[in-house]
Amino acid sequence: MAEFLNPEVESDYRAGQFELQYFQVRLALLVWAALWMLFLLEDYRHVGFAVELGYLLLQRALVAGAIVGFALLLERRPALLTDSHGLAGLMILSWTGFLFLYFQRPAEEVPWMFALGMVKLIALFVFIPIRLPHAVVVGTYSILGTATVLPLAHGVDGGQLASAVGVMLVPMLTGLVVLYRLQTSQRQQHALLRQAQESNVELAHEVAMRRELEQQLREQATVDPLTGLLNRRQYEGLANREIRRARRTGAPLSLCVLDIDHFKRVNDTYGHGAGDETLQFLARLCQETARETDILGRLGGEEFVFTLPNAGLADALRFSDRLRSRVEAAEIPTQGGVIRVTVTIGVAELSPGDTDLKGLTRRADEALYAGKRGGRNQVCAAA
Ligand code: GH3
Ligand code: MG
Ligand code: MG
Repeated sequence: MAEFLNPEVESDYRAGQFELQYFQVRLALLVWAALWMLFLLEDYRHVGFAVELGYLLLQRALVAGAIVGFALLLERRPALLTDSHGLAGLMILSWTGFLFLYFQRPAEEVPWMFALGMVKLIALFVFIPIRLPHAVVVGTYSILGTATVLPLAHGVDGGQLASAVGVMLVPMLTGLVVLYRLQTSQRQQHALLRQAQESNVELAHEVAMRRELEQQLREQATVDPLTGLLNRRQYEGLANREIRRARRTGAPLSLCVLDIDHFKRVNDTYGHGAGDETLQFLARLCQETARETDILGRLGGEEFVFTLPNAGLADALRFSDRLRSRVEAAEIPTQGGVIRVTVTIGVAELSPGDTDLKGLTRRADEALYAGKRGGRNQVCAAA
């Protein structure tokens, strides 16, 4: 059949062919209608100018109009074309009309009629994009029809009939082979194209997935998953850069280390989940209190650290105390109930003696422990 076995693929293929086929068939039908009108002159001569020209004109115009009408109908009903039922029906109709002419024409015109029939048969395979099974039906109908009509209309004998059928079989079989090859190779191309499109979609999907994964990995590498603050590695990288910048420009820079007071008790009293929610709440509060240029990290556990560029000790102390009192005032909603906590913050300013981030952090840490010892819920400056 030279068609796809999968009906869905076949109908997809045919739908895709419509544009091209419609253009081809419309042209073929218009040429047919034009030829039909042109033969009006030949008919007129043939009947010896004996009938009304108007009558001939009307008769010819009706048929030509029907052909043009069919061309227009194809646009409205694409299936007539893509399933080729409409085309096959039209061909059968046209052959039926043609076979009747054998009865009207004199015997000496039979060779011409026969030659015209051969042209019609070849045109079927060359100009009409018809499906292979329909081409077999139309071709067989035309040969059997001719073989039936010739003896009836003109008493053609068996020998002549056999050669007539033989001669008609040549274009028919050649046409079928060509049509088979054409339709098979067109469908193979379609299948390859479909395959390529499907792999493209798959590939695009894969790329999107990998991109998302990459983004996730990048986030995991830089951000603490619980609080969304920078993790230690990322924090240290950025803070060191700020320290180098401060050294170069001579701008002040301070560092604050924050530790929640008696956090073990929070976990023990309200549960670890409520503890986590408290950490998340405080991280948000820290972010809201800090400036955009400040660098916030979670050093691990319930210890947060801030690097404040362009902030001297006095600025950093003011910031820290604002944060401390906001924490003290906060009522933290958790699954375990409303929790209130306090924090102790140690503050140190970058001094010429600090060789790197470590030294500065150690001084802030010492201030923090001094604050813990001094009763917690307070801000302590490093010496
Ligand atoms: P203080 O700092 O005031 O001396 O007392 P503390 O009870 O807060 O003591 P410390 O800072 O040493 O305790 C840290 C506690 O924080 C221990 C651990 O149970 C808790 N913790 C650390 N990381 C997490 C976390 O990711 N989630 C929760 N829920 N708790 C954590
Ligand atoms: Mg603590
Ligand atoms: Mg701690």
